[in-house]
Amino acid sequence: MNTIYKLLTLLTVICTILFVIVFYRDKQFKNNPLPKSIIYQLEIKNNSIKKKIQEKYNITFNIPIIIEPHLPNNLFGLASYKKGTIKIFLNKKRFQENATYMIDNVLPHEYAHALMFYFGDFSKKNGGHTLKWEQICKNIGGLKCNRFVNHNDILIEKLGRLH
Ligand SMILES: [Zn+2]
Repeated sequence: MNTIYKLLTLLTVICTILFVIVFYRDKQFKNNPLPKSIIYQLEIKNNSIKKKIQEKYNITFNIPIIIEPHLPNNLFGLASYKKGTIKIFLNKKRFQENATYMIDNVLPHEYAHALMFYFGDFSKKNGGHTLKWEQICKNIGGLKCNRFVNHNDILIEKLGRLH
C-alpha cells in the first residue's frame, strides 16, 4: 500500500468512528429526558423569574413549563392560552445546541407572553411582541427582549373559555 492510500483509509476509519459517536449521542439526546444538569439550571432560572414576577407584579405565577420534543425546528418556544389555561412550551431539540440560550433568553421571552395573557392582553400585533411585552420581559430578568426574535410563538385559543 502506498502512503496516500494508507492515509485515506485511516481518514475514512476516523470519519466513520466520529459519525457513529455523533449519531449515537444524537439518538441518546432524542430518546431521553433532558440531562439533569440542564433541568437543574432551568429550575433555578424558573424560580428566579417567578420571584421577580412576585416582586414586580405581586402575583404568585405558577404555570407549567413543558419540554416539548415535537415543536417545529424553527420554534424555540411557545406560550399558549387555551380555555383560560396558560402554558409555556420549550423546544427540546433546541436544548441540544444551546441550553443556556434556551434558559436565559427563551424562557423569560415566553414568560413575558404568558404574563400578557394573564393580564388579559391578547394583542397579536407584531406577533405579540409589543412595547408592553418588552417591558415585562425586561422586568422579569430577560436578557434579550428584542421584538423580532420569533414572530409566531404565541397560540391563543379563547373559544370555549368558560365564563
Ligand atoms: Zn415571542
